[in-house]
Amino acid sequence: MGLTEEEVLKSRQKYGSNEIKSTKKSSFLKQYLITLGDPIIRILLIALAIKTVFLIKQFDWYETIGIVIAIFLASFISTISEYGSEKAFEKLQEESSKIKCKVKRNGLIKEIKIDEVVVGDIVLLESGDKIPADGKIIKGCIDVDESSITGESKEVEKKIDSPLFRGTIVYSKEAEMLVTKVGNNTFYGEISKELESLKPESPLKLRLRHLAKIISKIGYIGAVLVFLSYMFSTIFIDNNFDMNLIKETLNFPILLGHILYALTLCVTIIIVAVPEGLPMMVTLVLSSNMKRLLKNNVLVRKLVGIETAGSINILFSDKTGTLTKGILEVTTFIDGDFNNYTNINQIDENLREKVLLSITKNNSSHYDKDKIIGGNITDRALLKFSLKNNIEAKILDTIPFNSSLKYSQTKIEYKNKTTYLLKGAPEVILNKCNGYFDKFGNRKFLKSKLKINELINNATLNGNRVLMLAMGDSFNDLTLVGIVLIKDEVRKEAILGIDLVKRAHIQTVMVTGDNKGTALSIAKEIKLYEEGDLVITSDELKKLTDDEVKAILPKLKVVARAIPQDKSRLVRLSQELGLVVGMTGDGVNDAPALKKADVGFSMGSGTEVAKEASDIVVLDDNFLSITKSILFGRTIFKSIRKFIIFQLTVNICAVGLSIIGPFIGIDTPVTVIQMLWINMVMDTLAALAFAYEPPLEEYMDEKPKKRDEPILNKYMKDEIIFTGIYSALLCVLFLKLPLFNHIFDSNEYLLTAFFGLFIFMGIFNSFNARTHRLNLFAHLLQNKVFIVVIGFIAVVQVLLIYFGGDLFRTTGLNFKEFQIMFLLSMTVIPIDWIRKIYLRSKGVIGGV
Ligand code: ADP
Ligand code: MG
Repeated sequence: MGLTEEEVLKSRQKYGSNEIKSTKKSSFLKQYLITLGDPIIRILLIALAIKTVFLIKQFDWYETIGIVIAIFLASFISTISEYGSEKAFEKLQEESSKIKCKVKRNGLIKEIKIDEVVVGDIVLLESGDKIPADGKIIKGCIDVDESSITGESKEVEKKIDSPLFRGTIVYSKEAEMLVTKVGNNTFYGEISKELESLKPESPLKLRLRHLAKIISKIGYIGAVLVFLSYMFSTIFIDNNFDMNLIKETLNFPILLGHILYALTLCVTIIIVAVPEGLPMMVTLVLSSNMKRLLKNNVLVRKLVGIETAGSINILFSDKTGTLTKGILEVTTFIDGDFNNYTNINQIDENLREKVLLSITKNNSSHYDKDKIIGGNITDRALLKFSLKNNIEAKILDTIPFNSSLKYSQTKIEYKNKTTYLLKGAPEVILNKCNGYFDKFGNRKFLKSKLKINELINNATLNGNRVLMLAMGDSFNDLTLVGIVLIKDEVRKEAILGIDLVKRAHIQTVMVTGDNKGTALSIAKEIKLYEEGDLVITSDELKKLTDDEVKAILPKLKVVARAIPQDKSRLVRLSQELGLVVGMTGDGVNDAPALKKADVGFSMGSGTEVAKEASDIVVLDDNFLSITKSILFGRTIFKSIRKFIIFQLTVNICAVGLSIIGPFIGIDTPVTVIQMLWINMVMDTLAALAFAYEPPLEEYMDEKPKKRDEPILNKYMKDEIIFTGIYSALLCVLFLKLPLFNHIFDSNEYLLTAFFGLFIFMGIFNSFNARTHRLNLFAHLLQNKVFIVVIGFIAVVQVLLIYFGGDLFRTTGLNFKEFQIMFLLSMTVIPIDWIRKIYLRSKGVIGGV
């Protein structure tokens, strides 16, 4: 019967709801402290401390406090953006991955979210379901995969009264369970705290961390060089290498002063050189793109998935529901004498009884009022064809459909007789049939199967899915009830998607349980198959050796009558060929292949097992959505590369300047506090700006990136070195050329302009880094965040020039001075154009 609405409310009041409340407290503070514990920041704080102790008399409080505030502010902002986007993403993911289950309530079967389950509910379980709460079996018997709580991946058989645990998965058969514990009281609820902390870091993030480490090392070496060069220039060059002079002027306090000053310089360089924004950029770019993807009906479960999606070379795709609409409809029923019926009520009463038994009793779906739930789409289409005509019969035993068996079987007691019902792929069923029922339901001897096979062939070549129904007293002596033709229309978007993937140099292979005829007809319709391509069946595939399969793989377009093991094998062989493999799946048995693939796509309508095993859930089952994740995967990688170009260009300029500076008599052109602002611009703010780069269709015209494509490619290195060196050179000339010294009233103005020059050069460089095009405004409007962030930097910089005061060591420039500073920084654009035009003349158009 199940609970009534009233009982549900009462139970929820008494035992609580089934929601698992996350016990994880907001750990913002913790993360903030971790950011502060950063080695660079520690070095900076230590340097400040040394300064405070030794230079207490002539100490510049203003600057020290400014630096401390800047450090806290910078790490605060970066923590907010990183932490915030992580949290937001987690929430989105939670919301959209709410799982449903079937319960009995008020005597009816209802589909509800698992959060709504209460103690006392009777839950219907079938293969592929995730168990929503703790309880025990009250009817039936199932095999359960308890690996999610025990870690052991062996199926356990569960009979009446066996305990069931939330989060485990039904592998096969069907049962009813009584819920005894919900929410945090479940075993899963208790251990979920521990499970939360098991979140591995994404490989891309690790790779970027590695890159960041290398760059930092260069920074540290640079810092040491600067230290030495500064000391050398103050001690030897300033004294003209006169040993006597050196001995005279160099006493301990002065030397210490020099050392401390050099240390400050080192710290400044380290702050700039260490790209601490790099790992944060990954979090930002991933979360922003995941949000966009969710709007496109793609739910990213594992970060790895989306990163790898951009590099897929070969994509194995399901047919039903993914390339087709998956709204299956029974168009025709054909009896053993080849009479066609389009409506169940047209069938003569005697035969109709047999058809109804076959399609309603041997079926895993049910009516929930007018909605049909449970089973697979074929089951649901068949149940719909019954037009709610019902026959009472007792179900004794069932073997639900699975894609390896390709049929389903039910043993019933009907009119005091035990009867076997079978439905499934004709090849499997027809062999077992010795007779058939004629128009009036009389049993006849089946003389020739030839005509039936011919009919089936014709139907499949027209894209129909053909199902055969049979029944009998024993499994080996069956009578054909009839043939059902099911039509599934091609998705119009699938044609677009296939074309898109083709353009992206990705091979698509349709893997379907349907037979060769049906599969080929659909493959032609979506333009996947062209003359000369290869279509094979699972049986043919089985006969080929691994090497033979590898040899035909490039031509392979369709695998028909496929079983899940074929998927696993195809993934393995493709990976052995060095390909990055995408695989879709929806069934229980697809899980191994989904796990093994580089990117596993599960379908929103698929089983929970498949979702669990996948990296990405395609909520609308649509093939076009899969192409979206490929596009976004590519975009993410590109955005990160653009950011790196920008950051390293500024880096080279700043570090280069600090290293050469002391040799040519420029010491600290920028102060520590100016450097902190520069650092914030190039790390946190730029990461934000580049994280929202738009996914451009043209990315789909490129070849997939190699699995281990280095993050820094030649294009990037060239740009970084070329513009970086130009910028550094411009800085040196600006400070040293008498031309500029004359324009500016005094050194104060010159240095203020220099600070402005540096930031504005960075701003213009960010436009250079964004695109390989000559038109720097291309697609700019599609990244509003970029515009806002860059605008913000420009405004703050102008404010700093005019109101920065002692803290930022600035004095308001007059209009002419500002203009010169501004125009000079703008020169990085034409300079970079030279590089871009040169590349074009060489035929290189692409960039990152
Ligand atoms: P795909 O997912 O590739 O479309 P399926 O594995 O769902 O293929 O189905 C493969 C074949 O199994 C179908 O062509 C049909 O013959 C048979 N089949 C599918 N669903 C059922 C079902 N519910 N009961 C019996 N047979 C089925
Ligand atoms: Mg399937």
